[in-house]
Amino acid sequence: MIKTYGGIRELRPDTETCNDWGGSSVEAAARFPKKCLGRADRTFSQGLQCQQINSVMALLSMEEAAFVVHAPLGCAGCCSMANDWFRVGQLHRGNFAMRNARVLVTNLDEKDIILGGEKKLRQALHLAWERYRPKVIFIFTSCASGIIGDDVDAAAREAQEEFAAQEGVPPQVVPIHCEGFKSKVCASGYDAAFLSMTNYILKDEAPGETIPGLLNLFAPPTVSYIDQMEIERILHEIGITVNYIPFYSSLDKIRQIPRAQASTAICKVFADEFMRTLERAYGIPYSHTIMPIGSRNTDRWLRGVAKIMGKEAEAEAYIAKERAAVAPLVANLKERLTGKTVFITGGTGRTFAAGALVDDFGMRLLGMQTPTYDKYVQEDVEKLNAIHGNFVLDVANMMPFEQVNLLKKLQPDVFIGVPVWAARLGLPTTHVLDIKRPTLGYRNLVYLGQKIAAQIENPGYNKRIAAYASLPYKESWYAEDPFKFITKGGA
Ligand code: SF4
Repeated sequence: MIKTYGGIRELRPDTETCNDWGGSSVEAAARFPKKCLGRADRTFSQGLQCQQINSVMALLSMEEAAFVVHAPLGCAGCCSMANDWFRVGQLHRGNFAMRNARVLVTNLDEKDIILGGEKKLRQALHLAWERYRPKVIFIFTSCASGIIGDDVDAAAREAQEEFAAQEGVPPQVVPIHCEGFKSKVCASGYDAAFLSMTNYILKDEAPGETIPGLLNLFAPPTVSYIDQMEIERILHEIGITVNYIPFYSSLDKIRQIPRAQASTAICKVFADEFMRTLERAYGIPYSHTIMPIGSRNTDRWLRGVAKIMGKEAEAEAYIAKERAAVAPLVANLKERLTGKTVFITGGTGRTFAAGALVDDFGMRLLGMQTPTYDKYVQEDVEKLNAIHGNFVLDVANMMPFEQVNLLKKLQPDVFIGVPVWAARLGLPTTHVLDIKRPTLGYRNLVYLGQKIAAQIENPGYNKRIAAYASLPYKESWYAEDPFKFITKGGA
């Protein structure tokens, strides 16, 4: 049996994980190695991103798959966003006859919470099979199914046996244990999706012969198709072929994972535990560096991949060529952006990568909001401290009330991240987390720079939003300490 970790990021033995902290980045970097950042908590919280959404988003675009969300109806709300991404992704890939993802919800209600929901789960599995004849059916668990103790594995096993007794090729039925209460670190949801691949799809099967030059490239669903093509192009240029997993992937591609020469991920917090599992189980080396946003990070990411693939000379030649090609464009952007201040928020992988990106344009980092702090974040914070000096660090899974308080106080020239609240303050905003636009690699950094400059130079749209849309906070909140509700928990 392949040995895996349990799927709960807070319980990893090799690193402390903190979800609630606020202060200066220099203080955070000094405290973490002494183990005194602390497992803090909040006495007031606006709600966290549930890990189930990450499991759903990671897999919803899988080919020939159907999905059963074993949950009350509300838990499946995230499927509409994931489905939107799935549809946009189809369009970008040239499929104009877009379809919806095949999702069924068991709609657990009060009666099921008392009497158990396994009957509804079995019905949903049979309905998914009859309707769609998929090759694989994924079951997403929820807080409700976990609390009442439904035996989802047994239901999956029984359904699998029943399908096998019928005509046709039976689907693989794969439970994903992504109950929201298990973890406050939303990236645990990605781990739950990868654990299901390890435990139910790859299992103990012999991997087959290694395919020379093949790289497992694990990418989160937030990576746009333009970015996928750009990263694949870069890798092809240095003689590497790619097994792109799991967005728009398939069972066959998953089964090919153990045959790759090496693995890497586009996002630093995506598939890192899975890559460690693959190394333990199959001896597949992996590179775990940073997200390739901005020239400095793309260099670092590509050098990490080249090292494990034996392509170092090719990578160096390529880096020199690409850097020279974009240098005049970056210099132009630097003229427009030098000295501008920025606040960045987003997933852990993107925020820290974007922190280095803005240095390409001579910008100064004022503050950052990121979901977690662990030893991998520590590396990034140390690097950013060396580039930008001290900045405000808010370790928060969501928490817009802290974000707007910080933005009011810091008044950055531009906000990078999900713009819903910052736009209502009239600040120029742009993204680094957008499945519809480019972000990654040398060429796309120019696109990002143009977006930042354009927003700063043309702030009228957000100013009008601010004139007509208000935020739900009293003025008195903006005078408070933004970290007032964080209780520092000690070591
Ligand atoms: S699984 Fe739990 S945390 Fe996630 S949406 Fe459902 S109730 Fe909320």
